[in-house]
Order: sequence, then C-alpha cells, then structure tokens
Amino acid sequence: QNNYVFIKIPSFSTNESFARAAVAAFCSSLNPTIEEISDIKTAVSEAVTNAIIHGYEDEVGDIEIQCRIKGQMVEIIIEDFGCGIVNVEKAKEPLYTTKPELERSGMGFAVMETFMDELIVLSEKDVGTKVIMRK
Ligand code: ATP
Ligand code: MG
Repeated sequence: QNNYVFIKIPSFSTNESFARAAVAAFCSSLNPTIEEISDIKTAVSEAVTNAIIHGYEDEVGDIEIQCRIKGQMVEIIIEDFGCGIVNVEKAKEPLYTTKPELERSGMGFAVMETFMDELIVLSEKDVGTKVIMRK
C-alpha cells in the first residue's frame, strides 16, 4: 500500500508555513532534488494561502491537506470549505485576482501550474475549493 498523510488545520495564517514544511517532510521519502522540494513548497504555499485569504475571507475554517505517494509521483490535495470560486477558468488566468488592493498579483494558480506537473481545481460557490496537484 502507498504511503499517505492527512492533515487538518484551521485557516490561521501562521499555519501556512506549517503546511509547507509538513508536505515537504512527507515528500522527502521520495528522495527529491532540492529543486523539486522547493517547487512543491512554493505550490503548497500558494494553495494554502488561497484557502486562508480567499476561501475563508472573513472567518476561520478547516483546511484539509492530503498527500499520497503513487509510484514515483506525489499527489497533494488542498481543500477548503469556504466561499468557493464561481469561475475557475477565469481564476486560473495569470494576473486575475479579486483582491488587487491587497497587493495580490493574481499569479497563484499560474505558479502552481508552473511548478507542478498537473493541476486540477474543483470548486463550487459556497461549498469550497479543492486543489489537486501532482508531481
Ligand atoms: P496571488 O496568489 O498572486 O497573491 P491571487 O491569490 O489573487 O494573487 P490566484 O492565487 O491565482 O491569485 O487566485 C486567483 C483568484 O481565484 C483569487 O483572486 C480568488 O478570487 C480566487 N481563489 C483562489 N483560491 C481560492 C479559494 N481557495 N477560495 C475562493 N477563491 C479562491
Ligand atoms: Mg493566490
């Protein structure tokens, strides 16, 4: 059976660095290169930050992180149960942001897409958002 881990954290901004480090630690069993680990940390950081600042804009909610090793690949799922995204295709466009006033550049999904091999975003308004990444 493949190794996996399931992490549930409240959407406190301080938990972003924990999530990034926890996923990196889990992935280390695959003997990744420094560059690969750095790519994964960057992508996880973007997805968790999105859950914290967009998903749970005016509230604190649960963020669930699942990591699973599949052969030589790792699958990372980051899920929130917040406001959701009405138009996922538009949200994924580089430079698209609903928070320009907060110094957001609208590059989070573009970064995830660049640093991971595969990115799937599933979202429903008022239900939540699930980001699936593979590398
Ligand atoms: P940056 O990531 O560069 O700081 P950003 O977060 O606005 O800016 P993206 O990460 O690409 O850019 O996300 C684009 C948009 O998608 C966001 O502005 C937000 O409207 C929406 N979004 C992203 N993740 C979520 C989420 N988990 N829940 C609700 N909306 C989201
Ligand atoms: Mg973002």
